Amino acid sequence: MTKRYGNRLALHDVSLRVDPSECVGIFGPNGAGKSTLLRVLSTLARPTAGRVRCCGLEMPAQASEMRRLVGVVGHQTYLYDDLTVWENLDFYARLYGLRDAGDRIRQVLDLLGLGDRTEERVRALSRGLQQRLAIARAILHRPRVLLLDEPDTGLDREGRDRLASIIGEQVRLGGAVVLTTHAVEFGCQVASRVLFLDRGRLLWERPASGDLVDE
Ligand code: ADP
Ligand code: ADP
Repeated sequence: MTKRYGNRLALHDVSLRVDPSECVGIFGPNGAGKSTLLRVLSTLARPTAGRVRCCGLEMPAQASEMRRLVGVVGHQTYLYDDLTVWENLDFYARLYGLRDAGDRIRQVLDLLGLGDRTEERVRALSRGLQQRLAIARAILHRPRVLLLDEPDTGLDREGRDRLASIIGEQVRLGGAVVLTTHAVEFGCQVASRVLFLDRGRLLWERPASGDLVDE
């Protein structure tokens, strides 16, 4: 795919395939096009040329069906500041029409270590805790594909460990993950394959250790 913003070429002829049970890590300097790639994959931006397909669905024609299959952590948290932790997740659970909403909310809160903060308003949470909640929101509807743009931002060590477990579980269950990060060690630990993007071009890719994949 290719993505232009006016005259600016944000992605140039990028071709990428991600299989089930794969976690692909994308590295590259600021402005390389990493966020743009994830925004296109998550249907938040349209490619200028080329195609995006996901689980048999094609963008942009089936973007709304595709949106249900993906879970997104972006630079914006998509959280409501004036609602509590629980209310935020409850809102999204209704949006997705989850039948086991209460149980699932409880489960994702426990996965992120937020179980005792359900009544706190988002605006009163630290940046790292807001990031944990953003991750909880992204996995709430059990998406087949996780698209994570610098998901480790603001997380402490425990938060990163929890994120790594979530990624490992996603891969173990046959889902797929695409993530960007500036933390090379973290990225190589969770990813099975890493790609390097620079000025909108995919320069190289290689296998990563994929430590978590076999666990
Ligand atoms: P990265 O995430 O690797 O830092 P981005 O995908 O954010 O890179 O940006 C890639 C290029 O596209 C940059 O030159 C950036 O300024 C440009 N860009 C990103 N989003 C927009 C936008 N909405 N409008 C115009 N230019 C954009
Ligand atoms: P952050 O990633 O920290 O949220 P961004 O750089 O992504 O900040 O900016 C937020 C929004 O602005 C995004 O929708 C992004 O696509 C857009 N954007 C990024 N770079 C540019 C740019 N050079 N010109 C116009 N819009 C941009």
